Amino acid sequence: MVLNRMRSLTDIFFSTVSAMGRWASGKSMWPLSCGLSCCAIEMMHAAASRVDLNRYGCLFRASPKQADLMIIAGTVTKKMLPQLLTLYDQMLFPKYVIAMGGCAINGGLYSESESVVSNVGDYIRIDAIVPGCPPPPERLAMAILELQAKVIKGCQTS
Ligand code: SF4
Repeated sequence: MVLNRMRSLTDIFFSTVSAMGRWASGKSMWPLSCGLSCCAIEMMHAAASRVDLNRYGCLFRASPKQADLMIIAGTVTKKMLPQLLTLYDQMLFPKYVIAMGGCAINGGLYSESESVVSNVGDYIRIDAIVPGCPPPPERLAMAILELQAKVIKGCQTS
């Protein structure tokens, strides 16, 4: 009886701590400042005053060691892919990835090009996509909010 009660108290404690951890992680996603082409302008716009991603706890960081969210904003060329993977490897755990724009999702306009990676999901786990060419900054904010909600609920992100 006493043992069962202690076990349930321990369960409550650890589930509360785990929920708090998920809430903190979801509410403080720090994206890496890394833009690849024109979609990056929309990503920068999302950080500016009209959409203001800071309101959602998203502070862009210049170092991968301080970031847990990668926004692949734009065309991923085969030449750039190794650098992108290095940055991803250096990011904090748990880490999340949003593919922004048709080019990042499936090569977009350049899907037939020899120099462009047509499916970046083959190399990095993608947690959310933001379709469009270019997607408006509000759509990026929406994707971040949806990803935050999934992380807080403890859902599998992909
Ligand atoms: S999806 Fe459109 S806006 Fe974005 S990088 Fe590709 S061409 Fe540029």
